[in-house]
Amino acid sequence: MKKINHLEVILKISERCNLNCSYCYVFNMGSEIALNSAPVISNTTITTLKSFLEKIAEEANPDTIQIDLHGGEPLMLKKERFIHLCETLRSGHYKNAELRLALQTNATLIDDEWINIFEKFNVTVSISIDGPKHINDKYRLDHKGRSSYEATLNGYKSLCSAAARGILPFPSVLSVIDPDSDGKELFKHLYHDMQCRNFDFLLPDCNYENPTNTEGVQRFLSDICDAWFEQNDPNCDVRILTSHLTKLAGTSRYIALGITPQNDMYKAVAITVTSTGDIYVDDTLRSTLSDLFVPIGNISDSTYDQIANNRHMRELIKIESSLPDDCQECIWKTICAGGRPINRYSKDNAFNNKTIYCDANTTWSKCCIPRRTGYK
Ligand code: SF4
Repeated sequence: MKKINHLEVILKISERCNLNCSYCYVFNMGSEIALNSAPVISNTTITTLKSFLEKIAEEANPDTIQIDLHGGEPLMLKKERFIHLCETLRSGHYKNAELRLALQTNATLIDDEWINIFEKFNVTVSISIDGPKHINDKYRLDHKGRSSYEATLNGYKSLCSAAARGILPFPSVLSVIDPDSDGKELFKHLYHDMQCRNFDFLLPDCNYENPTNTEGVQRFLSDICDAWFEQNDPNCDVRILTSHLTKLAGTSRYIALGITPQNDMYKAVAITVTSTGDIYVDDTLRSTLSDLFVPIGNISDSTYDQIANNRHMRELIKIESSLPDDCQECIWKTICAGGRPINRYSKDNAFNNKTIYCDANTTWSKCCIPRRTGYK
């Protein structure tokens, strides 16, 4: 039997969103997959998913199964259906695997009832906000062009209040980097104003066909790095920094979407499952419109073997486990590995390019090392 350590399912429980963030890879980068899917997951698909996970657990015996409750905006699923989803998945028998339920939300719809549901079913919550109002509202507006900032902050405060009462863990925060913003201002807002101690920054889902201001990203990352070291708080985890530093220290066990065979001691598999049960590889790749992002099966009849041996999954494994030509001689290759597939893509070379954030990665690594070690 093939043993895997970790199965991650990016589950699209709602394929619609109450916001209309301009950079959204699901709705605003040319893909129509979400809009052509069922608006929300059905009870039938929920039941099928439980059987699918039980089958995978039998076949591959993972230690953990993590269900990332995603959208669109996942809380657009009605509470009754969400409860049914959690009850059904929690009632499954997954051999030796621990089932984790993790929610990524814009937090605008969170109320006390949602808090009780998260508590009852042990759902961990991460919220999306891009910084103070003037930064957040550059991209994260609703369909009528109205601010999402206050509603998100209110949701965040409700979660923090529940955490202070011991009902939930404190929420983590995920921000997409705005290359024109000031990293130190962002850090101050998250750390001091929002009192957040667990946050992460996402590189914009850009590539050679859809470029961005990479110099701005480079400056932003250096600023965040400086602000974090200056704060010198061991209880503050900025994941993009800590994961980078553990890679520099050679101790990382990171999980990428797809299958990560780089470390034979730890094998993780990640798939995307739509509201109708179709299975895809790395969710972010939908915005490339490449033929890698096509259904590779459906949870109603797919086995682990079929998923692992699917042509598109194998292609993604190959992309993730081999360096682009440009990176072969690079001294940072064991840390950077050419970057995320989404940031490597071009129509001409597909994924055989170094990440568009190459300069940012090298500059930032050079900045981290002296900060961490004292060496210049
Ligand atoms: S993307 Fe740049 S930094 Fe990363 S491995 Fe390739 S050449 Fe090196």
